[in-house]
Amino acid sequence: MYPWLNEQTRQLTGLIAQRQLGHALLLKGIEGLGKRELGLQLAQALLCQHTSDGENKVPPQAEVAVPCGHCHACQLVVAGNHSDLHIIRTDQRSISVDTIRQLTQVLSESARLGHGKVAVIEQAEKMTEAAANALLKTLEEPAGQSNLLLISSQPDRLLPTIRSRCQQWLLPVPDAALVLDWLAGQGLGTAGAQANLSALNVNQGSPLNTRDYLAAGTDQRRQQLLQQFAQLRQQPQLLTRVQAGLLEQPVHLLWLQLLLQDALQLALGLSSASLRLVDSEPLCRGVSELGAPRLTLALDGLAQLRRTLQSGTGRPVNPGLQLTQWLNDWLIH
Ligand SMILES: [Zn+2]
Repeated sequence: MYPWLNEQTRQLTGLIAQRQLGHALLLKGIEGLGKRELGLQLAQALLCQHTSDGENKVPPQAEVAVPCGHCHACQLVVAGNHSDLHIIRTDQRSISVDTIRQLTQVLSESARLGHGKVAVIEQAEKMTEAAANALLKTLEEPAGQSNLLLISSQPDRLLPTIRSRCQQWLLPVPDAALVLDWLAGQGLGTAGAQANLSALNVNQGSPLNTRDYLAAGTDQRRQQLLQQFAQLRQQPQLLTRVQAGLLEQPVHLLWLQLLLQDALQLALGLSSASLRLVDSEPLCRGVSELGAPRLTLALDGLAQLRRTLQSGTGRPVNPGLQLTQWLNDWLIH
């Protein structure tokens, strides 16, 4: 298990060993924490013969690890072959009502191995309203000995009735020092501690997203794009390149927002210790010379632009046009 999840894993498997975990658990936390791996570990703990056999209930203070990793059930889960473990995972935009109906049907049948059944629903917020409603009854009155694990990084998008029927467990954003150590251990510390801390901030503290970001070389792209943006007022011929770069990925506008926020901090005379892009201080300092009122205005416009682009509903949006307007304002005023 990932080091930042050790304590949470210990607590949750402890609850399972003592039969104190509710039959429906909602595991929530930002993207890229390892919720999927933790969910699988919990499913294994629930199916492990040391916890699921009535006679073998683990006594308090027992030294038996849960899951044990050795029993038949544990081996089947690890091999991805346990017939009483059902995982809903999709790349589609939504989880359909048919998928959930099939699941609830399977859960109502008796367990093949006789140790209960476990269903894991990843990205549970993708359930359509009909799918969520189809799950409600099972959440309320679980059939036989079944457990449901719902996993979500956007729990606010779940129906309140789903949330209220689950035991909710929030995984916190891990301590930065712990994640930075782990990243270095993955061979990703080569650009130095400051660059890694910036990368972690850019990825809002998410360890796995930061790992993927660094491994893909995306940090170089971020530095290049922000560098070009910072030169834009002196070199307007960069406009087309900057605009195309900012439109490549929605997250590129977040990079820009972080740069402007850091610049605003400096313009307000605040300490550079609180900068998010710790490896780009000279760049932020250059931009900060525009002064706080100008930067505040730009940040307001940018926040509005990001909201319009994210909402995805309502009137059609031409992101290029809106960004052009924002960049023109940036150049002129
Ligand atoms: Zn076991």
